[in-house]
Amino acid sequence: MVKDFKIAVIGSGTMGNGIAHVAGQSGFRTLLIDINEDQLNKALHTIEKNLDRQINKNIISKSDKENILKNISINTDIKFCKDMDLVIEAVPEKYDLKISIFKQLDDICKESTILASNTSSISISNLGNQTKRPENIIGMHFMNPVPIMKLVEVIKTIHTSQSTIKTIVDLAKKMKKLPVECNDYPGFVSNRILMPMINEAIFCLEQNVAEKEAIDDIMKLGMAHPMGPLELADFIGLDVCLDIMDVLWIGFNDSKYRPCTLLKKMVSSGLLGRKSGRGFYTYDWF
Ligand code: NAD
Repeated sequence: MVKDFKIAVIGSGTMGNGIAHVAGQSGFRTLLIDINEDQLNKALHTIEKNLDRQINKNIISKSDKENILKNISINTDIKFCKDMDLVIEAVPEKYDLKISIFKQLDDICKESTILASNTSSISISNLGNQTKRPENIIGMHFMNPVPIMKLVEVIKTIHTSQSTIKTIVDLAKKMKKLPVECNDYPGFVSNRILMPMINEAIFCLEQNVAEKEAIDDIMKLGMAHPMGPLELADFIGLDVCLDIMDVLWIGFNDSKYRPCTLLKKMVSSGLLGRKSGRGFYTYDWF
């Protein structure tokens, strides 16, 4: 039964702590794993702060908060995934890192465990091919910020079984999310459309078509986008945007996906957006 599922989340950064938050809030026993202990403590602090925000908005009560926190435990050792029914991987968007995590999980976890990746663009089929359970491999692409955004893009490979798809769709609904299915192609649907738009906005800035504020205003006022593409890039993280553009470029062998030089220059200079305090905009609160 999906409702009794034990869930582990690997990686407790921006996405991992959000996924653990919604899993814990949906009543699942949830184990959050990270190689970095400080990051784990920071993640728990973030979850508490976000739960307080939900209390202030009357979405949950103080006793709900206590119960949700009781559902979430933390550890630095991936071996504790052994008894989990579902493991959701949310480590950085690096191909070799994700491959090594999937190989480890395949060795550690029981045969029936479903292994999901929250990758923004890396091939789910390639991750599945590293395991002896390709029918239990699926993409579960949550959106940022996870406690607020409704969509989960559910990515199927040729080998993903119907029962794995049904389980993940049911589970996403239990997390009060709206799952939408698609097939495994570079960038899936969301980032295949979103990232080239962000990349093009950066080309516009590089070629001095307009000031950054003007580029964002044109897209907000003219296309009714809630955020401009450059603001959004800062929010997502410029390193994440570059990693995804590289996956599209390599995956399709098509130069229309080449990452803008300005994006590459900013990432190599450590200007990663909100998380580093500076990207296209400067964040004084950092
Ligand atoms: P992040 O850098 O904020 O967090 C990654 C975490 O993984 C860090 O805490 C790091 O310590 C941990 N980690 C690194 N190696 C590890 C290992 N071997 N074992 C356990 N933990 C390890 O990254 P993020 O922004 O949360 O992105 C995670 C994934 O989610 C990526 O695949 C990204 O593409 C995807 N994603 C990101 C967003 C976004 O807006 N940031 C949105 C959707 C999907």
